[in-house]
Amino acid sequence: MYQEFGISEKVEHIAIKAESELKDEFNKIDRICEINSMKVLKAFQDNNVSEVHFGTTTGYGYDDIGRDVIEKIYSQIFKSEDSLVRNQFISGTHALTVTLFGLLRPGDILLSISGEPYDTLHEVIGIKDNPSSLKSFGVKYEQIDLIDDDFDYKKIQEVLRNKKIKVIEIQRSKGYSTRKTINISKVEKVIKAIREVDKDVIIMIDNCYCEFVTDKEPIEIGADIAVGSLIKNLGAGIASNGAYVVGKKDLINLVAERLTSPGEGKEVGPSLGANKQFLKGLFFAPSVVASSLKTAILTSKIMEDLGYKPEPKYNEERADIVQNIEFGNAEDLIKYCQGIQMGSPIDSNSVPEPWDMPGYDDKVIMAAGAFTQGSSIELSCDGPVRPPYIAYQQGALTYQYGKIGVLKAVDNLLKNKK
Ligand SMILES: *Cc1c(COP(=O)(O)O)cnc(C)c1O
Repeated sequence: MYQEFGISEKVEHIAIKAESELKDEFNKIDRICEINSMKVLKAFQDNNVSEVHFGTTTGYGYDDIGRDVIEKIYSQIFKSEDSLVRNQFISGTHALTVTLFGLLRPGDILLSISGEPYDTLHEVIGIKDNPSSLKSFGVKYEQIDLIDDDFDYKKIQEVLRNKKIKVIEIQRSKGYSTRKTINISKVEKVIKAIREVDKDVIIMIDNCYCEFVTDKEPIEIGADIAVGSLIKNLGAGIASNGAYVVGKKDLINLVAERLTSPGEGKEVGPSLGANKQFLKGLFFAPSVVASSLKTAILTSKIMEDLGYKPEPKYNEERADIVQNIEFGNAEDLIKYCQGIQMGSPIDSNSVPEPWDMPGYDDKVIMAAGAFTQGSSIELSCDGPVRPPYIAYQQGALTYQYGKIGVLKAVDNLLKNKK
């Protein structure tokens, strides 16, 4: 079957060997998946989900009982006071934008304590000039870099002692950087350190790619508000768009009034048929996240065996679904990404090439043969074409499809070697 699919015997053997050494790692993933599945099922049952919740509203979207039950379920799973789960959010970037604009006022300071935020937020914050940025409204921005992939606890406390900060942003996943993803215990530790000196500052978490990777989420360890995309983990490839924000009731209200309008807030927002997708996506999410993690672990093992530099390593603790592979040269990075595209269900005949994407300084190559545009809970792989030539791979709706896609990529990579 493999050879019929264009995957060589050599690659098949590499995979069999790698997989045979991953049983312990896969068992750990299955355990987390079971815990998160129980969380989801309990939230569905406690909130009496029934077929009426699959209904839809149009126009203003008043009294959308399906939308309201989804938000109750998210609140229960995240142990938050309230939540906003909406298809009016285009994506994670949009939800982060609305959250920041909802919480910050002219003269306020936003402080990132995890270094430079995700690329798409640069114009939102005003790190890169844009006439619609937070900066253009008089919101100031400061940043404290990580030290050796951990927070600069001393500097954070020092800044908080000397200045009134309105919002602290913590981005857990790494974006296109080479740092490690920040695990939940580090986030917990830094929140304790923050609270020693400042009881009021709003602690906001960019939780993209981290949901259901472990059995704990940010609000239960003390964060005030957390944001994530539904074309990633919690949409499970079933939600066609959208994002969530969970947290304190008063903060969610501020965000809702920015998403819709002051005075209307959460009361409006037609679900336009998305309720069933959102519920089904959340229901599948623990398992799809587990498939993504297993695919990432297999990739890491194979690439290490082949002499490349994967991060995290196959047996390292994971805090998100992203797998980095350092190739060290442009050609290997490109061949690998093209191979991922060949192993995709959609547009498998397209050959991705590096291109000048808006907002990036270097050319970027992106492989994404996905059902949903931009969906990175489906197997996808991308990277800026610059040293040290790192591919960022994530997703897989099932482990089997993930594995086949990765083997196709490895085959395409090796085929081009002498
Ligand atoms: C993907 C991502 C975003 C943006 O989410 P989109 O849904 O792609 O807009 C923001 N922050 C981090 C850390 C991400 O990984």
